[in-house]
Amino acid sequence: MNWDDTTDTDATGERLVGSVADREDQAVEAALRPKDLGEFIGQEKVREQLDLVLRAARARGATADHVLLSGAPGLGKTTLSMIIAAEMEAPIRITSGPAIQHAGDLAAILSSLQEGEVLFLDEIHRMSRPAEEMLYMAMEDFRVDVIVGKGPGATAIPLELPPFTLVGATTRAGLLPPPLRDRFGFTAHMEFYEPAELERVVHRSASLLDVEIDPAGAAEIAGRSRGTPRIANRLLRRVRDYAQVKADGVITKDIAAAALAVYEVDARGLDRLDRAVLEALLKLFGGGPVGLSTLSVAVGEERETVEEVAEPFLVREGLLARTPRGRVATPAAWAHLGLTPPRSQGPGNGQGDLFGA
Ligand code: ADP
Repeated sequence: MNWDDTTDTDATGERLVGSVADREDQAVEAALRPKDLGEFIGQEKVREQLDLVLRAARARGATADHVLLSGAPGLGKTTLSMIIAAEMEAPIRITSGPAIQHAGDLAAILSSLQEGEVLFLDEIHRMSRPAEEMLYMAMEDFRVDVIVGKGPGATAIPLELPPFTLVGATTRAGLLPPPLRDRFGFTAHMEFYEPAELERVVHRSASLLDVEIDPAGAAEIAGRSRGTPRIANRLLRRVRDYAQVKADGVITKDIAAAALAVYEVDARGLDRLDRAVLEALLKLFGGGPVGLSTLSVAVGEERETVEEVAEPFLVREGLLARTPRGRVATPAAWAHLGLTPPRSQGPGNGQGDLFGA
């Protein structure tokens, strides 16, 4: 089983195009984070609305309303929470749902907040139930009941909190119980970034990292970044290494393309795993429909890896569809891999049926 686990980790944990921060990201991201709303690229709607919320709060001399940010990893939720704190000239405390296992953990954090402080709670949907209930009251009344003792002798001691701003982040707002969602004064959904916006992210980061890059080089990296600034920054660092070792350090279109070919990130941002899934679907199953289990065995990966790691992006890109009869390749998938769909068989019909869903 061991080698199987390794394959899994390679596909999920160490992915160059993975959207969750790895250790290197954590070390360098601080330097690349926009410091105020003016520096924050894209997300026009969110920026404009948030700007109003923060200006109004400042004008009233009040603490800003609680803010809920939803969206995929790497789109800038942590960055925005830091910007909120900076714009309000307030300190910030950063924690996450999984770190709060007991209501007591949350009580300890809340009771040590300063007036006006921003509390960033990442993955807020993963908080424990009792902590969540404590948070309702804290958000609404700036008060918590600390339970002392156990059983019939337990008593609730009310504790006043200073006003604070909670910034909650979640990958999907739909995962939050409605009572929690309703307590946020402002909710924003972050979208994936357009290529032109990612080009600006790449240019900005290149200049902070003191790397020379031309517009075509930036476009090449942006196009492979899966709509995600974190991935754009990570690809930029790999391309920079390549440019330094193999060329004169300047990033051009050709250098970017050659570097990312080494790392097996293709022109659309698909990596080895994504392409293996697509290739199996097209070459072995004629474009499907084919069941997830069969497809996973063909690729030599766990079902979960195919379903949770590779497929979401392939579906988003319109390369693969999940149907009740199984996985089906779209015409765009054939085109992307430079293959011709078998004659007499539009994508979605044919021999894949043999393998069933
Ligand atoms: P999340 O919290 O949503 O996972 P982060 O806020 O940690 O994402 O952002 C990841 C990286 O992407 C940060 O280092 C930041 O520099 C960069 N980034 C995110 N959004 C933007 C943006 N709008 N403009 C410029 N850089 C961004």
